[in-house]
Amino acid sequence: MASPRWLADEMLGRLARYLRFVGCDTVYVRGLTDAEIVESARAQGRVLVTRDRQLAQRADRALLLQSPYLEDQWRAVRAAYPELPSEPSFARCTECNGRLERLADPKPDLPASGIPWDRVRAGLPLYQCTQCSHLYWEGTHSASVRRRIRSWSEGEARG
Ligand SMILES: [Zn+2]
Repeated sequence: MASPRWLADEMLGRLARYLRFVGCDTVYVRGLTDAEIVESARAQGRVLVTRDRQLAQRADRALLLQSPYLEDQWRAVRAAYPELPSEPSFARCTECNGRLERLADPKPDLPASGIPWDRVRAGLPLYQCTQCSHLYWEGTHSASVRRRIRSWSEGEARG
């Protein structure tokens, strides 16, 4: 079963980035009224993830989170949706939720600093957001996020 599509409310920006990181289609909304949030989730067929009990009760499908901490939030999402991926997938832009595409022929004039060109020439894939053009590759950041998600999952296994 595929992981659901998400709509994260204003208080869950970090969680939204982590959901995108593992490839989940996740809209993050700011500055909307409760009614707009509920309607937007319904219209797009998304599960609303929120810490606001009243807001959760108004939505068709909602996951109410208790904890302000990312680790606890992640565990709660996984407990409710065990099919949630636990590995980075380079499918979604963590900034804007746009789809990422692998660049077939990366050119050195790309607008990003820190691209490890020696590794790219050796075959490391580069991905670009189709909406905001942000560039991604497997590096120290993705490795640390991966470790973090793994450590949370190991905690689950220990019970
Ligand atoms: Zn983007």
